[in-house]
Amino acid sequence: MYEYGSLIAGQWVRGAGAAFETRNPARPAERVGRYEAASAEQVHEAVLAAAAAQRRWKVIPSVERGAIVEKFLAALEARSDELARSITLEQGKPLAESRGEVAKSLAESRFMLGEAARGHSEVLPSARAGIRNMVIHRPLGVVAAITPWNFPILTPMRKIAPALVFGNAIVLKPSEFAPATACLIADTARGILPDGILQIVNGGAAVGAALVGSPGVHGVTFTGSVATGKRIYALAADSLAAVSLELGGKNAAVVNDVTDLGACLDQIVAAAFMCAGQRCTAISRVIVHRRLLADVEEGLAARARKFVLGDGMDPATTMGPLTNEAQHARVTKMVEAGVSEGARAITGGRPTTVAGLDGGYFYEPTVLTGVTPGMSVARDEIFGPVISVLAYDDLDQAFSILNGVEYGLTSALFSNDNGVIQRFVDESENGMIHVNHGTIPDIHMPFGGVKASGVGAYSVGASAAAFYTTEHSVYVKHR
Ligand code: NAD
Repeated sequence: MYEYGSLIAGQWVRGAGAAFETRNPARPAERVGRYEAASAEQVHEAVLAAAAAQRRWKVIPSVERGAIVEKFLAALEARSDELARSITLEQGKPLAESRGEVAKSLAESRFMLGEAARGHSEVLPSARAGIRNMVIHRPLGVVAAITPWNFPILTPMRKIAPALVFGNAIVLKPSEFAPATACLIADTARGILPDGILQIVNGGAAVGAALVGSPGVHGVTFTGSVATGKRIYALAADSLAAVSLELGGKNAAVVNDVTDLGACLDQIVAAAFMCAGQRCTAISRVIVHRRLLADVEEGLAARARKFVLGDGMDPATTMGPLTNEAQHARVTKMVEAGVSEGARAITGGRPTTVAGLDGGYFYEPTVLTGVTPGMSVARDEIFGPVISVLAYDDLDQAFSILNGVEYGLTSALFSNDNGVIQRFVDESENGMIHVNHGTIPDIHMPFGGVKASGVGAYSVGASAAAFYTTEHSVYVKHR
């Protein structure tokens, strides 16, 4: 069982707030972790410790800082199995997916090491003789990070690695539903990173709000729901902290014309059902030309039925449970609402049980047909293993359905027609655009969304500099 308070100034301290537990979502009777929430005073203490540590960290040359971070990443890699197990135990995804998440987070973090050396500076000509102009970047300062439960290592490391390499200190509040992995990450950093550079404050919304509202915070990076993102945006306005918000999605795959329908459907199903659909980049809508509708529905349903639901620790499992009771109830209610509005489940459509796993939060992989653009299952993020299929007759209609939602995170097109591809690249109102494959992003490409899916700089790779550094215009006259 994991037991943690908060990591403040290099020491694990008992939380002065309320204790809370996590449970294995495949067998909720099993307790996985016991945590103590930080008090507002402890959050403040962590921010002060971060400021003190950052003053020393920022003056270390960035290449040298990179070498220290590399040691930290190597230490994390040595604990890969332990990290992957912690993900599956609290979040529920199959262990193979957890291992993949650990590996991907390390690869993304290692890519960031190079960004530290690059420095993102420019030398420009001046309008005046004898003057040299430069644009330089400096560390932002103290970064507050707040993360959700669906990717317990990928999301925290996507914030920790750039914060560190660009010379910042970071205080992370992981999701109260899956904090074990973040605690292991921070524990691994002890003795490698200077005390106070990477701290954890545990707890729920109140602890997150105390962190965002702390006057010593220079930037807030948040990944989570739109509703919470709006609250955090408003809170951060008070101190004018820089903000990067990565929010939800209602991602679509448009199937226009394909030579290999099987390969296309394999890509869609992987992107839709990985992590039991609890990915912000999961494909949630399939918008298909009516001429392909029957084949697409049949192919999606056949693939959905093949998933083996179970405990993520069982190697036979290909889909784990939903992560918590509230999420299970939410998905159940949303699909019921869709059916009451006229959608029909051609497979799945209800919660299910797995023998030997009492009370596990399992939900059948679901394909909904007869969905029209105005229905709630066509517009709202479900965050579960559910695909809504919508038919179109012409491309204008397809684009209108594609872009007719509040979100703008990611999208995929399946087509061999250059004109259609070009139009999709130009008109898909999404931060990430994929053609002829699913919505799984690379480790070095900017990651983020437009519309309700995000505010501020994208994360991952070179884009991260825009949030984790401040920009300065320098004019030098040499004598
Ligand atoms: P959530 O918004 O409920 O919680 C996210 C985090 O915010 C948690 O750590 C929570 O404790 C904290 N929090 C809640 N209220 C707060 C407040 N008032 N002030 C400060 N912190 C607060 O989201 P969730 O249920 O954990 O995650 C699911 C959501 O996250 C989905 O909408 C999903 O699309 C989104 N998400 C987006 C991305 C992305 O990169 N765009 C990635 C993963 C998940």
